[in-house]
Amino acid sequence: MSSGYEETPISSPVDLCVINTCTVTSTSDEKSRQQIRKVVRNNPDATVIVTGCYAESDAEAIKKIDGVGYVFEKGKESRIIDFVKNGFLSDNNSVPVSSNIREPHTKKLRRNESAFNLKISKFDGHTRAFLKIEDGCDIFCSYCIIPYVRGKVISKKIDDILFEAEHLISNGYKEIVLTGIHLGAYGKEVGYQVSIINVLEELQTLPGLERIRLSSIEVNEITDGLIDLIANSDKVCPHFHLPLQSGDNYILKRMNRKYNSAQYLSTLEKIRERLELPSISTDVMVGFPGEEREHFENTLRLCEQAGFSRTHIFPYSPREDTPAAKMPGHCKPSEIKARKKELESLTAETSLRYKESFIGRNISILVEGTRDRKTGKLCGYSDRYIKVLFDGTDDLMNEIVDVYVESALPQFVMGKCRV
Ligand code: SF4
Repeated sequence: MSSGYEETPISSPVDLCVINTCTVTSTSDEKSRQQIRKVVRNNPDATVIVTGCYAESDAEAIKKIDGVGYVFEKGKESRIIDFVKNGFLSDNNSVPVSSNIREPHTKKLRRNESAFNLKISKFDGHTRAFLKIEDGCDIFCSYCIIPYVRGKVISKKIDDILFEAEHLISNGYKEIVLTGIHLGAYGKEVGYQVSIINVLEELQTLPGLERIRLSSIEVNEITDGLIDLIANSDKVCPHFHLPLQSGDNYILKRMNRKYNSAQYLSTLEKIRERLELPSISTDVMVGFPGEEREHFENTLRLCEQAGFSRTHIFPYSPREDTPAAKMPGHCKPSEIKARKKELESLTAETSLRYKESFIGRNISILVEGTRDRKTGKLCGYSDRYIKVLFDGTDDLMNEIVDVYVESALPQFVMGKCRV
C-alpha cells in the first residue's frame, strides 16, 4: 500500500485488522458481528478497527464485542491510516473513535462530505475494479435503513472519477464497475447538471478501458438517453441490474418503491427494442409484510415475463427502525422459505433460457485471474455478465478473449476459446 503498510491474507497473523461492515438487512448486522468476533478470536494480539454502515447505525452493539479497539464512523475511513500512524490518537478530535464514538443511530439525515476520500487503485483477488461514484439515497424504501445511515445523495466529481479510472487502468484493469447506493441519482444534488450519462461519455474515451459496467440502477431512472448511449457504445456493457423487489403493485406501494409492475415491464421492452439480447438481472424480496399468495403469484408472473438473466432472491427480515418492521401481516418464516424456493426454481429456468440463446455464438470474455474451483477450467464473464467456463492456459488470465458457446446450465455456459 502507498502508505507503507502491507496487506496480508485474512489467514495470516496481522498487527491491525480493519473490518468494513454492512447493515442493509438484520442478517448483514449478524454477519458483521460474527465476522468481528472471528477476526478478534483469530488475531488476539492485533488492534481491531471497525467501520462501515453497521458501525454507523449501531456503534453501541459493536462496542460491546470484546476485543474491538476502535469504531470509526462511516465516511471517516480515509483517516484510519493517519490515526494508526499517530499511534492511535485522534487528530484534533475530529475522528470519532474509541468507545465514545457517537450517539446511537438517530433518524436525522446525514450528509457525508468525506464519502469519497478513500481512493482505491487495486482490488486484490478481483479481475474487475469497482469505482464508487455516488453515495447516499433518499428513496426511503420502507424496509431499508440505508437512507438513515448514509444520508443524502452526494456525487463524485467527474474529474475525480476520471483520475481514479486512469489509475485503475494503469494498474491493469480492463473493466470498471461503477457503484453507488443510488447510482441513477448521480448529480441529483446539483439538479442533474451532470448525470450518469456524462460520466459514461467521459469514461468511454479513456484509452485502455475496455468495459464499463453499471452495478445497479433503479428502473425508473432508465432514460431513453441512457439506453441510446449503451446501444451505441462498444464499451458500456449491455447489462442492466434493475431491482424489482416485487411484481405486485400493492406490495410495491407498501415498499415505497417508485414504479409499478407495468412501468417496470415497459422499460424492459424499451431496452430490448434498442439492444440485442441485453442482460436484465434483478433483486426480488419475498415475504414482505402483507404479501399474500396472490401478491406473490404476481411476482412469479412478472419474473417469468421479464425473463431475467440472473435473480438475487432475498427473504424479508425486519430491520429495526424502518416503517416496514412495524407493519402488520408479517409472513411466517416457513412460508417465506417456501416462496423463495419456488421463485428460485422459476428464475433458474429463465436464466437457463437466456444463456441458451448464446449457444452457437462467439462471446467476448474477460478471463478471471483464478480458475474455477470445481472444474479447474478457466472462467470469465461476458459483457452481459454470463459466466463462461472453458479450457485454456494461464496466460489468458485477465485478457479479453472470444469463446464459442457450446452448452448452457442455469449458472454458466461452457465453450471453446477462439484464440
Ligand atoms: S433504493 Fe431503496 S433499497 Fe436501495 S438504498 Fe435506497 S432506500 Fe434502500
